[in-house]
Amino acid sequence: MAKQNLVPAGKVKLLDFDPNYTGGFTKATARAEESKLEERLAELQERLYAGRQAALLIVLQGMDTAGKDGAIEHVFDVINPNGLRVANFKVPTSEELAHDFLWRIHKEAPEKGYIGIFNRSHYEDVLVVRVNKLVPESVWKARYEQINHFEHILAASGTRILKFYLHISKDEQKERLQARLEDPAKHWKFNVGDLKVREQWDEYMNAYEDALSNCNMPYAPWYIVPANKKWYRNLVITRTIVETLEQMNLQFPQSEDLSGVVIPD
Ligand code: AMP
Ligand code: MG
Repeated sequence: MAKQNLVPAGKVKLLDFDPNYTGGFTKATARAEESKLEERLAELQERLYAGRQAALLIVLQGMDTAGKDGAIEHVFDVINPNGLRVANFKVPTSEELAHDFLWRIHKEAPEKGYIGIFNRSHYEDVLVVRVNKLVPESVWKARYEQINHFEHILAASGTRILKFYLHISKDEQKERLQARLEDPAKHWKFNVGDLKVREQWDEYMNAYEDALSNCNMPYAPWYIVPANKKWYRNLVITRTIVETLEQMNLQFPQSEDLSGVVIPD
């Protein structure tokens, strides 16, 4: 079922993907399905952590309010925090800008045994950077191939990569921004600068379409997650991660023969 969200080969048109899609689930059935999957997720993560044979990198991208923070909060709450690393990528510092764009990213790539979550990522360097013309076109255009090479290096050294684009509609974003405005407890999440980004919606959609089309490799696939319904978003992400961990055939490490061991008094 999660394969429905896999980005097909060729040029992606985001208008072909319905942000309201819920795969026949209701809120109640989606929640029930998700809690079953969460149990399995916790078991698989324990194997990943114990075995230290591989890492899982999860990239979350999406427009403001698409639910990157919410997904992290809800999907990973069952996981042993010891095995989890979350990296939030903000506007680069002057030190970061003085390096190549992947320098700050590579440092946060998860080591074997860990699940690493990127809340925003190197894709910002072909999204906000492109839309706001922060570098010349020749520079951002070259980055798609550079990103593919970078992700290939990670994959070749034992990192499974899953990339989720959280797909909301422009109308849904308006409602979510309005809700933030009306709730003083959410004001910390409201950034007046986000309104400028909203005005550039169509340019962002074009930039996302290119990122999704140009960097959709078998070793680092993109998933388009219908995200207008938070409960469906969470289900799709959880299910995709569980399916991926299942495929990784994770084993507990070989322990020594404990059959003759007696615990002394
Ligand atoms: P938030 O994730 O809402 O806390 O905001 C982080 C901000 O950092 C967003 O506006 C991003 O567009 C911005 N950002 C992240 N990475 C980059 C980058 N490489 N260049 C410029 N801005 C970035
Ligand atoms: Mg934000």
